[in-house]
Amino acid sequence: MVSSLCACGRAFEWLPDDDRGEARELACACGRRYDLILGDAGWTPGPFPLIPEARQPLAGFSRELTSREDSERFFFIHAMWPRRRQPVHVVFSPSAREAEVAFGDMKPLRLAPVGSAIEARRRWAAWFDSRMRPKRPLERRAPLTEQRRPLG
Ligand SMILES: [Zn+2]
Repeated sequence: MVSSLCACGRAFEWLPDDDRGEARELACACGRRYDLILGDAGWTPGPFPLIPEARQPLAGFSRELTSREDSERFFFIHAMWPRRRQPVHVVFSPSAREAEVAFGDMKPLRLAPVGSAIEARRRWAAWFDSRMRPKRPLERRAPLTEQRRPLG
């Protein structure tokens, strides 16, 4: 059994070699949801949990999703920019298996079908990172046969 401490102070335990398939996540009684990440010590909770929030501060989410009775709302800090501390917001409906994810003034990304808020975050992060990846410097696009010279 491995244990970890949630940011709220509660401890939770899980099996390090537990094969959870796609549902690699832990929920704390405080409402935070943790992504389990496979490392040298087995599965451990990632450093950026989903944190529940009472209402969505952004206007762009669809009424259809936010008005569902079982809608869950979270925010998280995206691992790509831990220092910017810009929250990303998630609305997820378990019964509709739909989620919307957005931050700042970006149009929410709609995901369906999606099994959990953690899965919605994973898919949003893959989508976002593939769009936002910085373009390669020009010199790295040179053909492989070209001789490399020191810059300057
Ligand atoms: Zn907690």
